[in-house]
Amino acid sequence: MTLSSISPLLDSRPPVFDPETVAGWLAAHWGLSGQLSPLTSERDLNHRLDAPHGRFVVKIANLAEPHAMTRFQTRALRHAAACDPTLPIPHVVTTRDGTEDVILPSGHLMRVLTWLDGAPLATLPPSPLQAAGVARLGARLARAMQGFSDPAADHSLQWDIKRAAQLRPLLPHISDPALRAVATATLDRFDTRVAPALPALRWQVIHGDLNPHNLLGDPAAPDHVTGILDFGDMVLTPMVCDLAIAAAYCLDPADPAASLAAFAAAWATEYPLTAAEITVLPDLVAARMVTTLAITSFRAARYPENAPYILRNFPSAAQGLTALAKAGPEALSRALARLTPMDAPMTRDPMPNAFVPGAGNLGPTEAAMVDRRQHLLGPAYRLFYETPVHLLRGQGVWLYDPEGNAYLDTYNNVASVGHCHPRVVAAMAEQAATLATHTRYLHDGVLEYAERLLAHFPPDLAHVMFTCTGSEANDLALRLARAATGGTGIIVTENAYHGVTASVAEFSPSLGPGVPLGAHVRTIPAPDARHGDPATTFTAHVQAAIDDLIRHGIRPALLIVDTVFSSDGLFTDPPGFLAPAAAAIRAAGGLFLADEVQPGFGRTGGHMWGFQRHGVTPDMVSLGKPMGNGYPVAGLVLQPHVIAEFGAKARYFNTFGGNAVAAATAMAVLSVIEEEGLMQNAARVGATFRAGLETLATRHPAMGDIRSAGLFLAVDIVTDGRPDRARAGRLVNALREAGILISATGPQGHTLKIRPPLVFSEDNAALFLDRLDVILRRDG
Ligand code: PMP
Repeated sequence: MTLSSISPLLDSRPPVFDPETVAGWLAAHWGLSGQLSPLTSERDLNHRLDAPHGRFVVKIANLAEPHAMTRFQTRALRHAAACDPTLPIPHVVTTRDGTEDVILPSGHLMRVLTWLDGAPLATLPPSPLQAAGVARLGARLARAMQGFSDPAADHSLQWDIKRAAQLRPLLPHISDPALRAVATATLDRFDTRVAPALPALRWQVIHGDLNPHNLLGDPAAPDHVTGILDFGDMVLTPMVCDLAIAAAYCLDPADPAASLAAFAAAWATEYPLTAAEITVLPDLVAARMVTTLAITSFRAARYPENAPYILRNFPSAAQGLTALAKAGPEALSRALARLTPMDAPMTRDPMPNAFVPGAGNLGPTEAAMVDRRQHLLGPAYRLFYETPVHLLRGQGVWLYDPEGNAYLDTYNNVASVGHCHPRVVAAMAEQAATLATHTRYLHDGVLEYAERLLAHFPPDLAHVMFTCTGSEANDLALRLARAATGGTGIIVTENAYHGVTASVAEFSPSLGPGVPLGAHVRTIPAPDARHGDPATTFTAHVQAAIDDLIRHGIRPALLIVDTVFSSDGLFTDPPGFLAPAAAAIRAAGGLFLADEVQPGFGRTGGHMWGFQRHGVTPDMVSLGKPMGNGYPVAGLVLQPHVIAEFGAKARYFNTFGGNAVAAATAMAVLSVIEEEGLMQNAARVGATFRAGLETLATRHPAMGDIRSAGLFLAVDIVTDGRPDRARAGRLVNALREAGILISATGPQGHTLKIRPPLVFSEDNAALFLDRLDVILRRDG
């Protein structure tokens, strides 16, 4: 095998054009002029342009570089900047025509990028702080590239560590026999231990060459890393390769194990690592060093006139590889074992010692933040937990605080497809970078989403109107119901929550006695199957409320229920009991509104919507929370007859409701739910979770009734069989101290509310059960 059969590019020289010609193209296409000075590059023709209003890099790509490859880089830069706008990377300057490049008459592709100030780290004194800065910035870039895809990304790149095994034919070019032997042993280990593990790691597009010549620092403060350059080695590969490449240049040969562990820990503060990634890291670092040694030795022999430049990273790679070999794999794994992987396996000794329950545990930063909140946000805001949780970042089912402690999120239904799902983030960022307007212009996004969403409903529910919050959806529903029925009376359950607007708060009794209910509102008991068959009792309560409204001269307009009765304590069984209640309100001239803000989008496992469990088609359905996985998008789905009267008299416009970014985000969420099978996951994991809770309850009398539907689970906490709010509160706080986030609900506050993102796994459930078990055994 020859090298050029691996990479034809390495044989191609940079294009040659004189500066006047380049200046002519710059003026014609970009309207830019100024002083051009050549920059060194192995394969492209690069110039610095000092223009009156700024400094730029003018790049003319090698003719051997396919245009698709350069455009892949352009798209990646745009994507990363959209995901992390303060990331110090070059930005592509568009031409007068709005294009991001120009194809010259010779076929060469020309681009202009913004200039980044700073000096290459290779010219600045290294330090542990600087290394940590490299790790954090590299991780930020990798995180910003999560979810980015491009057809050209999966290309064959000789420097790609996953291909290290293919470098064996080049090893004879390493002239030092001892070094060659270490390199050979490294590749042997790579073949047996690393290559088989690669397919199961997290793959994404990476920068691929975070070496000190491509990273910038501030000469006045050399610890400060200020920029990332050269996106020419980007490739689709396991993410941890980017970490390994960056680490290969930052190791302290005097203590490779400790410096690698410190580097990985700094990386993980921005981009948490999995256990499998941590395991392969030292071997990947060594493989990168072999890559450097093999390729540069080969190329220096081939182009002796350019050897000093080609070999500039050889000495540090040789020193690093020797140091790693001397330290040995055990010492390296021991040092890395101190890192906490994001998917830490469950343990029988789960209490992290760092946590001591009680507000006294509030660190100085958090104490100050609590105080600032009070001053800035005023007295109506509440925090969860005796010791509030300070969060920095989320990923999947995990949330992280500034110290890097991981919390298993068993509570947040908004991030239903997982915190910061890369596909959702990418869709949101791409749309935000393309067009963000409202529904008064024609735009496909909102229409495509409406079609996809309505396809999940019975055909009678044929319209969808967009809002930003569930409260707004319910508020709109009330206006429609008033117009359609001519009535004003509303029936809700005793501890219902439907939102925050003035009219919706009037029918949200869970807000407490301080928030008065409207005179037109009637409350009824939740359908608790322990107090009789809800098909009979609940319908009888609805009928009694209808009768009472009429007796007071109020015409019924609406029966609104959260179809799993979350804030009442979760009542889902037996399926079917809502149908006669809906029939009762309709017979009285009112409408039936299913509030799906909590159960909607697959949470109950069996169905996409909670009302489907009851075999009833509502007049209106309100949606919210999980719809945008954190982006504020909500809506009201309705039968056309409901809006006929309103539509004849009034118009509807909601500035942000259904905006282009909302539609793109919600579309991505729906796609993820469908394609990742999250409803099915909710059914499967929910059933295992429930079975685990039931088993635990046989050992712990504090655990009373257990109710669930899919991944919405409730456990009553009792003492001597009676509701015990204080005990439930203690449990919630103890779980928080043990790194598990949940809450309590219900009119007596004694019901544990377990409502994780739908990507929750059986292992996650096992971890929860394990920690709950330990706490109950410890605290009784
Ligand atoms: N309905 C239900 C059942 C809810 O749980 C909530 C929010 N907790 C709302 C409506 C209101 O939604 P939002 O907070 O988006 O206004």
